[in-house]
Amino acid sequence: METKTNVVVWGEFRHEKKNPKVAELYPCGMHETIAAALRKVPSLDVSTAWLDQDDRHGLGGDLLEKTDVLVWWGHMAHGDVSDTVVADVKKRVLEGMGLLVLHSGHYAKIFKALMGTTCSLKWRESTDKERVWNIAPHHPITQGIGDYFEIPAEEMYGEPFGIPEPDELIFISWFTGGEVFRSGATWRRGNGRIFYFRPGHETYPTYHQAEVQKVIANGVLWARPTVRIPDICPNSPALEPLPADPFAASRPTEGFR
Ligand code: ZN
Repeated sequence: METKTNVVVWGEFRHEKKNPKVAELYPCGMHETIAAALRKVPSLDVSTAWLDQDDRHGLGGDLLEKTDVLVWWGHMAHGDVSDTVVADVKKRVLEGMGLLVLHSGHYAKIFKALMGTTCSLKWRESTDKERVWNIAPHHPITQGIGDYFEIPAEEMYGEPFGIPEPDELIFISWFTGGEVFRSGATWRRGNGRIFYFRPGHETYPTYHQAEVQKVIANGVLWARPTVRIPDICPNSPALEPLPADPFAASRPTEGFR
C-alpha cells in the first residue's frame, strides 16, 4: 500500500476572528478551506495548525518530524511567530521537507530565512483582476491548468519582488492596473523543495476557486520529500592511509567545523 503524504496547512487564523468579511468567506479559517481542498487528493493525509493554537503555534511535539509538506499562510502577525519554531521548520526543509508559501507569506520569517533577501514587493488592495499566466506548461505544478486563469478580484502584488533568482518560474500574473508579478516560483534549499504561490488575499474568495486549489494540490505533490538527510556534520575518517600527524595530540576535538 502506498504511504500517504503527511501535509500540514498552517494558517495565522486571526483575520477570520477580527474581520467579519473574512469570517464570512472562511468561517472555519482559510487554512481549513485550503485543507478541505487538499483532502480530495487520496494520497494526502492533511491536518491543520494555527498561530494561537499553543506556544508552538500547533507545530510542537513530533508533528514537524512527521510532516512531509508544510503549507504556510501568514499576514498580520509574522512577528508573533516564534524564532525557535522558524528555526525548526527551516531545519526540516533543509533535511528534505517540502514547503509551500502562500500570498502574504512572502514576508513570513520562514520564507525570508530561506530566501536570504528582502522578499519585498509592491501591493494595492483595490479593484484589480488578476490574470495568472502559466509559463511552465511542462511542469507538474501546472498540470490541469491552461494557458492562464483569471481571479476576478484580488490584491495586486507588483514587481520588483525581492527574491533570489528562482530555480523555476511557473506563473507570471498581470493585474488590471498594469503591473506584473512572478506569482509562482520554486527553489531548492538543502534537500527540500519550496514553492511560492501568490494568490490568496484574505478578503477575496480566492481559495474557493478551482484553479487555485488545483495549483496548491499540484504544488504539494511536487514538493514531497525525495530524501531525508539530517545535518550531522560528521568527523570523517580518511579513506586512505595518511602521513603521520605530528600535531595529533594537540588538535582540539571540541566544537563544530
Ligand atoms: Zn494580502
